[in-house]
Amino acid sequence: MTDFVKKIEAQLVSWRQSFHQYPELGFMEYVTTYRLGKELEKLGFSLHIGDDAIDPDARLGIPEAEDLIAHEQEAIDAGVDESWMKKMQGGLTGLVATLDTGRTGDHVAFRFDIDALPIKESTDESHLPFHDAFASKSTGVMHACGHDGHMTIGLGVAAYIASHQTSLKGRFTLLFQPAEEGGRGAKAMTAKGWLDDVDYFYSGHIGIQSLPVGTIAATTEGFLASSKLNVSFTGVSSHAGMRPELGRNALLAASAAATNLYAIPRHSDGITRINVGKMIAGSGRNIIPGEAYMEIETRGETQEINDYMLTEAKRIIQAAAAMHQVSCELTSVGVTEEMVCNEELIQKIKHACIGGEYVKEVLPKAQVSGSEDASFMMNRVQENGGKATYMLFGTELKYPHHHPAFDFQEDVLPVALETFVKIIEGGSKID
Ligand SMILES: [Zn+2]
Repeated sequence: MTDFVKKIEAQLVSWRQSFHQYPELGFMEYVTTYRLGKELEKLGFSLHIGDDAIDPDARLGIPEAEDLIAHEQEAIDAGVDESWMKKMQGGLTGLVATLDTGRTGDHVAFRFDIDALPIKESTDESHLPFHDAFASKSTGVMHACGHDGHMTIGLGVAAYIASHQTSLKGRFTLLFQPAEEGGRGAKAMTAKGWLDDVDYFYSGHIGIQSLPVGTIAATTEGFLASSKLNVSFTGVSSHAGMRPELGRNALLAASAAATNLYAIPRHSDGITRINVGKMIAGSGRNIIPGEAYMEIETRGETQEINDYMLTEAKRIIQAAAAMHQVSCELTSVGVTEEMVCNEELIQKIKHACIGGEYVKEVLPKAQVSGSEDASFMMNRVQENGGKATYMLFGTELKYPHHHPAFDFQEDVLPVALETFVKIIEGGSKID
């Protein structure tokens, strides 16, 4: 087994660097999905793409039609097969790869997210991807969270399963999920039923905390349930000098909403968050602002606490609109659920990783913050009696996630792959 990881190490680096150069935003991962699919096809997996992989109507925060069309053309120019483009058209990206050994055993699922971020990558000589000439080739889009590494690990896991299938039992499902950023894609994949009869579900992230390479965490806690909303206020514009009384000021409605959102009383049951991350309003100096737009999010330690924050936020936004006699429209563009890892997997993972060449230390639990839409998948698995966890794979982080100079140590790739391989050997090997 260690031999397998050692042999594939150079391939992991080459996959990672190639994915890093072609980052794509959520629901526009056409080239990425196609490249993954071609590798998985070679390995003998059954592929499920387009509306076989995700439920189109369960997606949140779908990009504008003109952005989708422009990126679809780029994907065709980049060589994506026409039959694939037809299935993925309109933002049906991501894929599910399945392999059934034909022998009775557990159904084990793994999730790897594949999307990038709207960030312009650093061109500082000290930034390794730039220095080593594998930085993003799409200006303004960057793999600044490590999902290029996640996909790479996913291909490594697939290669292991494919080459060892005669000594394995049960079924394997690999979920290459689109649009993790903003909590938009996992819900659509879950809605398709892929997690319904899964016995064990493993997901995780490179980094998050700065830990030495070789250290992993078997479970995490602290991810928050969250809701992401876009808000449009529509008032009436008017001449600010001649007839201000005829105007209905959307900018003031948005401002009143923004300041009062931060006045939501904190909930005594646990952690809460509120953020107004973006506001655009008005059109010119001498015009009563007729339009305003806001992007906000709420978070809570539990579903109930986030529901409380969301209900209060909606009430305040509507009240602010009413106060200024403007109308408002709220759109849900992302959501994540509360998630709790199964504690019994700590021992299982610890035990599986004993004697590892790359895994040096297994921490039982890591404290994290932020939010993860893998929560939808984990909760579905657990509802049906399966076990699920979200792990961390240690790397030193010189810059935080979502920073233009974000990077991880590529040595974490074989560590993560060995972890998954050991887990598979621990539970799916023929006795
Ligand atoms: Zn991420």
